Amino acid sequence: MVTRLYTNSICLEHLTPPGHPERPDRLRAIDKVLAHEVFAPLDRAEAPMARETAVLLAHPENYARRVRDAIPAEGIARIDADTTVSPKSWEVALTAIGGAMAAVDDVFTGKADNVFVATRPPGHHAEKDRAMGFCLFNHVAIAARHAQEAHGAERVAIVDWDVHHGNGTQDIFWDDPTVLYCSTHQMPLYPGTGAASETGAGNIVNAPLPPGADGEVFRQAFEEKILPRIDDFRPDLIIISAGFDAHHRDPLAELNFTEEDFGWATAELMERAGRSAGNRLVSVLEGGYDLEGLALSAAAHVGRLMKG
Ligand SMILES: [Zn+2]
Repeated sequence: MVTRLYTNSICLEHLTPPGHPERPDRLRAIDKVLAHEVFAPLDRAEAPMARETAVLLAHPENYARRVRDAIPAEGIARIDADTTVSPKSWEVALTAIGGAMAAVDDVFTGKADNVFVATRPPGHHAEKDRAMGFCLFNHVAIAARHAQEAHGAERVAIVDWDVHHGNGTQDIFWDDPTVLYCSTHQMPLYPGTGAASETGAGNIVNAPLPPGADGEVFRQAFEEKILPRIDDFRPDLIIISAGFDAHHRDPLAELNFTEEDFGWATAELMERAGRSAGNRLVSVLEGGYDLEGLALSAAAHVGRLMKG
């Protein structure tokens, strides 16, 4: 099994205001934990910058222009109450997109069995034409479209275990039965979407969890509501929106997962990728705001990816 890791130090240069939870130290914490010798076999590569047209796989051109025009020459500019851009944000955004697309290329060309893309900012709240929740562009949505357009994937499953609902991913694929979107998330919580009744074209599977839910509740929801849908769907590729803010240490929400729960879910999805997708699995970092919880969770996740 070859597990590739994409990072790029330019992702440290998307700046947010002091005290903002989505901060460069998040990536430093992941870098540090993955520097341990048990991760030496990782196939490490620099996330490449995507071409600007890649944005158009999931967003209209006038939206892309709006984001670029919002980027200041200096300082930090606000797009909404909690989403900001700084001078390097355009290059950073294209690098986060480029990492997710390169990961798709790698699993379809056999360069890697699975890939973890450690970039920021996160992407799953970005709707077709709206930046929100720290997110500018929807990296997993662009990656799924890229798999379909460049590699002939017919069915792509996106599994989102970030503690927040991926309203953006749901918005982009709402009426598209070629993409299955499955999410566990705390409810009620930002952004307010993600009720079980939101099913799109029958391709949206929301499994909301109540505040305080622990890994046992998560595993049960995963086993009963999500895994059977993936089994039926038989995806050609599985993409994980890997947010680690459901960890019990995280300050933004009230779920109580442990790092072992993320490892367990990783193994379950790898098994499904083995059944229908030739092991092809791409995992893209989303949230996770307690540095220790984030590092422990990413380590459990990547460690499991490497085990095959
Ligand atoms: Zn989140």
